[in-house]
Amino acid sequence: MNAPARIKGPTTLVHGPRGGCDRPVLKERGQREVFCGLTGIVWLHRKIQDAFFLVVGSRTCAHLLQSAAGVMIFAEPRFATAVIDERDLAGLADAHDELDRVVTELLARRPDIKLLFLVGSCPSEVIKLDLAKAAERLNRNYHPATRVLAYSGSGIETTFTEGEDACLASLVPDLAATDASQLLLVGALPDIVEDQFLRMLSAMGIDSVAVLPGRNADAMPAVGPNTSYMLLQPFLTETAARLAGRGAQYLPALFPFGAAGTRAFLAAAAARFGVSDETFEAVIAAPEKRAHEAIARHRPTLAGKSISFFPDSQLEPPLARFLAEECDMRPIEVGSPYLHRQHLAEELPRLPQDVRLSEGQDVDRQLARLEDDGPDLTVCGLGLANPLEARGYRTKWAIELIFSPIHGFEQAGDLAELFARPLQRAERLAV
Ligand code: SF4
Repeated sequence: MNAPARIKGPTTLVHGPRGGCDRPVLKERGQREVFCGLTGIVWLHRKIQDAFFLVVGSRTCAHLLQSAAGVMIFAEPRFATAVIDERDLAGLADAHDELDRVVTELLARRPDIKLLFLVGSCPSEVIKLDLAKAAERLNRNYHPATRVLAYSGSGIETTFTEGEDACLASLVPDLAATDASQLLLVGALPDIVEDQFLRMLSAMGIDSVAVLPGRNADAMPAVGPNTSYMLLQPFLTETAARLAGRGAQYLPALFPFGAAGTRAFLAAAAARFGVSDETFEAVIAAPEKRAHEAIARHRPTLAGKSISFFPDSQLEPPLARFLAEECDMRPIEVGSPYLHRQHLAEELPRLPQDVRLSEGQDVDRQLARLEDDGPDLTVCGLGLANPLEARGYRTKWAIELIFSPIHGFEQAGDLAELFARPLQRAERLAV
């Protein structure tokens, strides 16, 4: 079920600060069409295997989760919604008492839960339910058997990938301290993709590598002043700020999308940990070659085609860089909900000079620009895709780029294919 956050605000169009390169950024603030941060539970509950996500929300939130994550019939699910009803909204019931009762029942029935996230929503924010305080109170009863943390997945002023950022940020204050020199990879990748990165780093001789989030509550990394952290996703702004607050050092790089992005990402790690050029090249030679070959299979479909991105996941700038540099596509507009200048400092200068960069969203204005541009492919949210298809545009769902494994050398061909498929389908239909 599509549960878009529809925010109305002043419609302003100004030239903002330059985006880490010599081009202006179109800054917009108007109605948005995006999923909310609860969506992150879909991939996070699979990643942290002894965690449970208890959304404190409405029936709409419950429907969103059940349709997006599916209902597991034979397995105990690891997410649920404590529904705030009319009595809570009217202030007739003590929502904290209700929450304590639900958590007590849940943990009595599910002692396997080691990490319990209380996830805020639009309704819990509207009634100003303080979930951080609730987590503190519940920890007094249940920690150390179960750690209770809180974060917000609300759709008010946020987009869907910010749910992962808020979740990971909530973990940071709890991480153990360390003075050890280590590399910390930050972002929830599918295990199989994470393992590929760990294997390559290990083959280069970088053995002290940790990952946030860990795969279970006991596998969370330690952090300290000799930790160098690299972001696997561009939307982990708050998590990065909290890691910096713990003294960790940010290691800038391209994001590891496509062959070039993955090479640059690994090269930054190799340089930081003193890996020789020979060793680095020897380790990446075979997977990089496979990546180039896999991308080349889709280049005939993609080359010369124009593409526009509606602001959705914050992955837009690195994906546009990959499509322009490695697939010969022509990005026209690259819209992103938020352009983090520091984290995108390596990405933005590599976008073609004539790309229109926009930050924030005013959906009506962007639709008008889309009509003028007439791109061959449009990357957008689910709510916009069907109407645009009906009007003859070829679209790609932005959320598919989050649900699919797309990082690293071995996935570079699949990433190109995700963009090639709708174009091939259009060609077939046209015959
Ligand atoms: S958190 Fe807000 S936007 Fe998300 S499903 Fe619940 S009510 Fe809708």
